[in-house]
Amino acid sequence: MSDKTKIEWSDSTWNPVTGCTKVSEGCRNCYAKTFAERFEGTPGHYFESGFKVTLRPERLGQPLRWKRPRKIFVNSMSDLFHPDVPDEYIDRVFAVMALCPQHTFQVLTKRPERMREYLSDRKEVVNETIAFNMMDVPTRHIGKRWGGWTPAQTGEYGRVEIPGYFDDVSIDWPLPNVWLGVSVENQQAADERIPLLLQTPAAVRFLSCEPLLGPVNLGKWLLTQGWSPSYYDPDNIHGYPESEPTNEHINWVIVGGESGRNARPMHPNWARSLRNQCNAAGVPFFFKQWGEWKKVHDLSANDPGIKGKLWHTFDPDTSVCRIGKEAAGRMLDGRVWSEMPLVGGGESEQP
Ligand code: SF4
Repeated sequence: MSDKTKIEWSDSTWNPVTGCTKVSEGCRNCYAKTFAERFEGTPGHYFESGFKVTLRPERLGQPLRWKRPRKIFVNSMSDLFHPDVPDEYIDRVFAVMALCPQHTFQVLTKRPERMREYLSDRKEVVNETIAFNMMDVPTRHIGKRWGGWTPAQTGEYGRVEIPGYFDDVSIDWPLPNVWLGVSVENQQAADERIPLLLQTPAAVRFLSCEPLLGPVNLGKWLLTQGWSPSYYDPDNIHGYPESEPTNEHINWVIVGGESGRNARPMHPNWARSLRNQCNAAGVPFFFKQWGEWKKVHDLSANDPGIKGKLWHTFDPDTSVCRIGKEAAGRMLDGRVWSEMPLVGGGESEQP
């Protein structure tokens, strides 16, 4: 399996776990499940067990071997905080991420409650996991910064059993190179997951609004970040609520429509609204893709180029056509939006 990814906001994927179970509407057409289940029951195939949650400890050391700095999407084929993934295994994943300060890791979940609990009290255990190489990665891949272990000291996969050694290992927590995000497919997911994300210790917090299935109002969280409803809604016709008190910020928002065979259409104004909210609050905005459906200007259903394709009408002004993901592309209002957070959050850069 290639470590390169077509996911526009990442360079590579790393899957120390595969498999998952559905939790919300955003999961209905889960790409990972569709992909894995194609091979279920195929003897000897990597996905012989389909989409059953499977730990892949043989993949734990993979990022340690990648020298060039990358943005790495962790568990594109699973959810790291699924209840079937033991805390001790998540410790090993975080230990590897701590050992790779050259990379940026992007962890996205639909289970933010467990993520918050995990991040709130596992620092010492992750320290210990590193100190005793409980990741079971080859010691030669562990940098000098962490003690310069050699196979001669420890054996190729050895535990570090030098008295007092543990005292020398101390990681920053939350890890500065780990971005934590939640999926937000609609307002209900926003209301349930964003408060938990904001209570989670993290260097960078992000939202992945994909597949975007409805309008999402981030006002009550963005208000504390300098966002103002009057920026584009002076009469507050949407009735933006009071801000929620928090010192923590949303540092990045990704938006995308759904792709795949049963993809549901996204109203262009849902994406525009999130772009406007982010722009007004100074939050980096990344428009990943339209998905399968797009509003096709100046064409009608009788046009030869799109004749026979499916249409969906949201309202008298807005019909979208199923023209396919590649054709739909990722331009929103005449430009590509690829803003990314800088570590520490709050500012943005265009790659
Ligand atoms: S949480 Fe993610 S990986 Fe798991 S079923 Fe839902 S979409 Fe798929």
